[in-house]
Amino acid sequence: MSPPEIQLTGLHKAFGDNEVLRGIDLEVARGEVVCVIGPSGSGKSTLLRCVNLLEQPTRGIVVVRGVELTDPDVDIDAARRRIGMVFQQFNLFPHLTVTENLTLPQRRVLRRDKRAAERVAHENLIRVGLQDKAHARPASLSGGQQQRVAIARALAMDPEVMLFDEPTSALDPELVGDVLAVMRMLADDGMTMMVVTHEMTFASEVADRVVFMDGGVVVEEGTPAQVIGAPGHARTRHFLSRLL
Ligand code: ADP
Ligand code: MG
Repeated sequence: MSPPEIQLTGLHKAFGDNEVLRGIDLEVARGEVVCVIGPSGSGKSTLLRCVNLLEQPTRGIVVVRGVELTDPDVDIDAARRRIGMVFQQFNLFPHLTVTENLTLPQRRVLRRDKRAAERVAHENLIRVGLQDKAHARPASLSGGQQQRVAIARALAMDPEVMLFDEPTSALDPELVGDVLAVMRMLADDGMTMMVVTHEMTFASEVADRVVFMDGGVVVEEGTPAQVIGAPGHARTRHFLSRLL
């Protein structure tokens, strides 16, 4: 068994008196797709943000690919580079073209030269099916296309792990499918992924494991068939019944 790509041990996070994460233990294996589900306010985003230390855990250990990110001596910028993140809001630069949105972080962070960055940008636009939008500005694209650009931008940094925080929640329903299709392709390519989502069909079909969170703890986890198909806990059943 190879060591897990992501290993969270005894993770706690409080904002003042508000204990948002109350002891999370979670491992994600290489190539595994873990979907995190749960009610609003249960701590899903905070959990994801602790994985790349966008939030500093109050207590506990985060290890990604053998590097302890919670070690105060670690080079957090270097470690973060290997972790791609996609948010509900796409956060593209409006004044830059699609290609420029993809090349800027490569050049700034990875120090790639223009030609190399443009080649990687082109490859990743092909991956998300938007090579014909290379010279467009974000505002001329649909929300689904903008989110696919945001995914391509993350992929252009050669991440070893991808984190998705409700990537389709801000999209009109008819645009959700194209974004989920890109994520499905990534999963099929063997990307290690943690996905916070309310898309139960996606979770059922793509996740290797589903984690149900409530009140800052993992209430239950298992295969989609277990957690979504036959939940063992009343809180999971209650949550799922309200999604229908
Ligand atoms: P979810 O993503 O499951 O909806 P969140 O992780 O966003 O849950 O939020 C969990 C709780 O943490 C909420 O009560 C929220 O108000 C609080 N919280 C999240 N981020 C912050 C922050 N930066 N400062 C203070 N409170 C926060
Ligand atoms: Mg959230």
